[in-house]
Amino acid sequence: MVQPYKHEPFTDFSVESNKESYLQGLNKVEGYLGKDYDLIIGGERISTDDKIVSVNPADKEEVIGRVSKADRELAEKAMQAADEAFKTWKKTKPEVRADVLFRAAAIIRRRKDEFSALLTKEAGKPWNEADADTAEAIDFLEFYARQMLKLKDGIPVQSRPGEYNRFNYIPLGIGIIISPWNFPFAIMAGTAVAAIVTGNTVLLKPASTTPVVAAKFVEVMEEAGLPNGVLNYVPGNGAEVGDYLVDHPRTRFISFTGSRDVGVRIYERASKVNEGQIWLKRVIAEMGGKDTIVVDKEADLELAAQSIVKSAFGFSGQKCSACSRAVIVEDVYDQVLQRAIELTKDLTIGNPVDPSNFMGPVIDNNAFKKIMEYIEIGKEEGRLAAGGEGDNSKGFFVQPTIIADVDPKSRVMQEEIFGPVVAFAKAKDFDHAIEIANNTEYGLTGAVITNNRTNMEKAREEFHVGNLYFNRGCTGAIVGYQPFGGFNMSGTDSKAGGPDYLALHMQGKTTSETY
Ligand code: GLU
Repeated sequence: MVQPYKHEPFTDFSVESNKESYLQGLNKVEGYLGKDYDLIIGGERISTDDKIVSVNPADKEEVIGRVSKADRELAEKAMQAADEAFKTWKKTKPEVRADVLFRAAAIIRRRKDEFSALLTKEAGKPWNEADADTAEAIDFLEFYARQMLKLKDGIPVQSRPGEYNRFNYIPLGIGIIISPWNFPFAIMAGTAVAAIVTGNTVLLKPASTTPVVAAKFVEVMEEAGLPNGVLNYVPGNGAEVGDYLVDHPRTRFISFTGSRDVGVRIYERASKVNEGQIWLKRVIAEMGGKDTIVVDKEADLELAAQSIVKSAFGFSGQKCSACSRAVIVEDVYDQVLQRAIELTKDLTIGNPVDPSNFMGPVIDNNAFKKIMEYIEIGKEEGRLAAGGEGDNSKGFFVQPTIIADVDPKSRVMQEEIFGPVVAFAKAKDFDHAIEIANNTEYGLTGAVITNNRTNMEKAREEFHVGNLYFNRGCTGAIVGYQPFGGFNMSGTDSKAGGPDYLALHMQGKTTSETY
């Protein structure tokens, strides 16, 4: 009997044995740094001369791994392998498919510290952020496996006398999973297994900055008993392999997490019906955010400052859910800003292998340059109140930065920066604060810090975001507890970790028998 779902607890690193175990994980990862990783197509390992080199963003000289790179020919081979595997995988019992996920979760749980340490090295995640990423990967496996068991017999529908109606879900076909580097384990694994447990076969194209953790995950799925060809590992260039796969007439759906611009491009390309294609492709997209924490005048102001700082600078602000705008009612603006500045100045930044560092690097030099440009823009649009400096000599480090007193329409209030930069704007009153918060093309997360019940209810109705939090920060959704996804340009509001997520990967079939 399957136990009820409960999310994987976070590790308390103040406990000596937990710390020790993480260090052992780091040791293990150090032992395999720089190794080569092959493509995996239909179970076959394929090595290419052209490689993606994954480096440690905190120490760019350190190579995490060298990963073979698919070209169009290999992408086509993977499509064929997935097509072939689909014939049997779609008929494999849902219970059997779920069992693969349960076993994979168990394997990852046993190797939790190793996986988290790999995330520290490959993505620059501080220990607690890496631990949360691994925990979330486990959660997705556990949660989606159970969801599949719930859906396996379909959903009851009415039948009139003399007929028997049934409504069942069947798989779609081949899915292309294009996963991000900011949750290189959780979102990569979550989007892949949602597609797999529902009976589809997939081609996984992980982000080019974090392909090694994806390779390790594919190995775990093989160990857990996933048949060859169901999960094909095809890292490669977006413009070459990504476009080819998105355009392919055999592609049935695309599950993408990443930037707004790439998401829109995929959506547009996927809408075109290509020669030989006999369906309309489905797109599941989780894109950007410009997320706001609103602070009311009747509020716990210490909680407000803490929530802003943690949501803005956790994992260097590289979450679509990160707080990049603090909108504060004018009566308490100075107080909250002052406290946020103090907290920010106390934050430590450096190589995340050292757990005393709150913040590590940003992902690569492109991100570094983009964020530093935005800081310059912010200095013109507002007042630099904390941080502002960057150093990319050894790794890609940007100080946690506060830009104060900005106009709601300024670029730093409108454009996604995806780094440790938060802009502060003043609102006349609570209604004005919600108006400013809604003034964005995104609609992913938001938080409201208030003790005023009327305002809370107002925000519940008016604040147009997919994930709205009260009296806490705006990051850290838990699988199965806070289904995650946003409105407008934040994506298709496909709620990852939610009750209807799996259905997006299937099609409903009605059968009606008369007797
Ligand atoms: N689910 C994550 C959170 O709630 C964010 C995911 C993302 O950044 O893509 O913080």
